[in-house]
Amino acid sequence: MKDLVIIGGGPAGLTAGIYGMRAGLDLVIVEKFSPGGQVINSYEIENYPGFAEPVEGWKLMSDMEEQTRRLGAEIISAEVLSIKKDAGVFTVGLADGEIQARSVIIAAGAFNRRLNVPGEKEYVGRGVSYCATCDGAFFKDKVTVVAGGGDVALEEAFFLTRFASKVYLIHRREHFRGADILQKRVLGNEKIVPVLCTNIESVNGDTTVNSVTLKNTKTGEINRLDTDGVFIFIGYDPNTSFVDKELLNEQREVIVDMNMHTGVEGLFAAGDIRSGSKRQIVMAAADGATAVLSAYEYLTGNYCS
Ligand code: NAP
Repeated sequence: MKDLVIIGGGPAGLTAGIYGMRAGLDLVIVEKFSPGGQVINSYEIENYPGFAEPVEGWKLMSDMEEQTRRLGAEIISAEVLSIKKDAGVFTVGLADGEIQARSVIIAAGAFNRRLNVPGEKEYVGRGVSYCATCDGAFFKDKVTVVAGGGDVALEEAFFLTRFASKVYLIHRREHFRGADILQKRVLGNEKIVPVLCTNIESVNGDTTVNSVTLKNTKTGEINRLDTDGVFIFIGYDPNTSFVDKELLNEQREVIVDMNMHTGVEGLFAAGDIRSGSKRQIVMAAADGATAVLSAYEYLTGNYCS
């Protein structure tokens, strides 16, 4: 019987692990893939405090993982399928086995939203990608399309200019949603061509992607744009398939209070998966710390810092 199971090894889960180990809790972190979360898909992070120069996403997260392990946290690789509570004990169901614990923090993060247009699914790995850091180098001197207008689309479009000869940035509205500094950076890059008020209707190709079909949202005009790759960055949806529906809001995020409590005693949520998240790395880390301090209080009746 563990004191605490932390589900997810991104910034929220690892920070919960760091604080939990320092508080003397017997805990385990369960991560579906390898620790790091979505951040490892970001080439550079320039708004995480403590780094005078931008830090690569994988580097930030590999150091965070090492810090967590140095403090003695156990990190196991497994997929969580269910969480049940009976007589004050949580049973976390895994694809292969289960773990019992007195408290649980859900920090399973979010996954890339899909455009859900014809061709998208078929061409994943053959021109369609959700990770510029992973796949950008395959597009050296090639034409690429980026879908989205948020921070991630702007950052990744800029990153792709290292390889691609041209990056068409397709956004459905007239104004980008991403931070001002990123908009200026993107608009000042001659390789990036913004295509506004436009939706991608389909991804086309033969063995690999060769074009996208575009529709102007104002005029309804349909155009075909030749491209070798389509990078999709249109936001994230929370990973809550294993969470009781009664604990979720309309966006399928786990509803929490300011102390990261869910509606179930001893069950907490932190990071991108929780209601009201601003989806910033620094905030996910802070959520993880808050959640574990709340869990410590729940387990011991004492306040810990
Ligand atoms: P986002 O801010 O939610 O932006 C998603 C973009 O995709 C929006 O421009 C949206 O258009 C567009 N979009 C959504 N659904 C679409 C669809 N079906 N078809 C076409 N376009 C669609 O998502 P994000 O850029 O992935 O960023 C997620 C969060 O992570 C943000 O809060 C961001 O600030 C944060 N972030 C943090 C860091 C960091 O902490 N260092 C780094 C990167 C990102 P509309 O604008 O029309 O809605």
